[in-house]
Amino acid sequence: MINQHMHDLGAAPNKIRELFMYGLGRKAEIGADKVFDYSIGNPSVPAPPQVKAAFLDILGEDPVKVHEYTPSPGDPAVRAAIAAHISKANGVDARPQNIYITSGASSAIAISLGAVTNPGDEVITVSPYFPEYKTWAETAQCTLVEVPATEPDFQMDVDAIEAAINERTSAIILNTPNNPTGAVYPRAALERLAAVLRKKGAELGRTIFLISDEPYRELVYGADVPYIPAIYADTIVCYTWSKSLSLPGERIGYIHVNEGIEGDDAVCTAVSGAGRALGYICAPVLLQRVVARCLDVPADVSEYAKKREVLTGMLRGIGYEFVEPDGAFYLWMRSLEPDAEAFSERAKQFELLLVPSNSFGCTGWVRLSYCISEKTIRESEDALRALYESYQA
Ligand code: PLP
Repeated sequence: MINQHMHDLGAAPNKIRELFMYGLGRKAEIGADKVFDYSIGNPSVPAPPQVKAAFLDILGEDPVKVHEYTPSPGDPAVRAAIAAHISKANGVDARPQNIYITSGASSAIAISLGAVTNPGDEVITVSPYFPEYKTWAETAQCTLVEVPATEPDFQMDVDAIEAAINERTSAIILNTPNNPTGAVYPRAALERLAAVLRKKGAELGRTIFLISDEPYRELVYGADVPYIPAIYADTIVCYTWSKSLSLPGERIGYIHVNEGIEGDDAVCTAVSGAGRALGYICAPVLLQRVVARCLDVPADVSEYAKKREVLTGMLRGIGYEFVEPDGAFYLWMRSLEPDAEAFSERAKQFELLLVPSNSFGCTGWVRLSYCISEKTIRESEDALRALYESYQA
């Protein structure tokens, strides 16, 4: 008999993928240049040349060793290189044994949740949020508690987070720079949050882990992205090269269990156990070695910065309300009617694919992924204006 829960999960609609698939169909019907597909977050900047060079170089090495299993947490030399990189970048002393290499941020978060929660626990996140958090929390038999961000700036509401913490709270997942809002949390807000987590943890006699989901760490437009483990010791960083090196399909990232966590060795062991329980043997070996050679390659944000400028200028000119994105490559725009799904449906009539905020756990907004060509962004202006005007009766 199949597992009904897994069946339901497999059958559950994923609005982002649905829109993306709809877009592929529409592009085949009317031509790719007629569809303005703001649905999905596939980086539009090519992977840097150093990535290809590293691939080719490694493929020239011993053909048996190149493809063999590594220890579950990763190749020791790669873990050491990542730890050294973190240490140098943040003036800390990260240890190789606290690094666990993963298949991107997704497995990093699912594994971290498995490691630091127990069935029946609660995990807090700020809504709107990356939809898979709920799936991963529920897989760990926890409840995801959504604490709405403040509107209209979509910063975290530390008082509301404090109010949501109780004796079942084991972790909070934070994502800054944020998908879907593009918001970046300033240091002062993170410090306030850290103080609350420390205070509530002490009151409740338990550690509240902060799982910091950081796919967009480098993708910022001038904003400061503080190193969270230096602000809150009980932090587990989940990093991925999916966006910074434009390698989303290659599946490579890591978990860094902060050395400041009391009993960090036990947490690292639980991370290994959770990875094992979820069926991970080791992260893709070729990619482990590729990223180890590209740790100092900077993410190219200039392309996204340009697209951001074009899109925000256009939207402002038309009259849309949106959150000025400080990071990532998403723009969060207010829907022109309270029902964001209806707004997204109406946008389709203008060949505009906008993801309704319901997918991210809130109402009244849509997400535009502007990791598409600048030409498409510019050519979408008439459609965006027509959509806007269709509401000005
Ligand atoms: N977390 C956030 C906020 C994301 O936006 C994404 C991907 O878009 C992920 C996690 C998953 O990243 P990965 O592709 O590395 O698994």
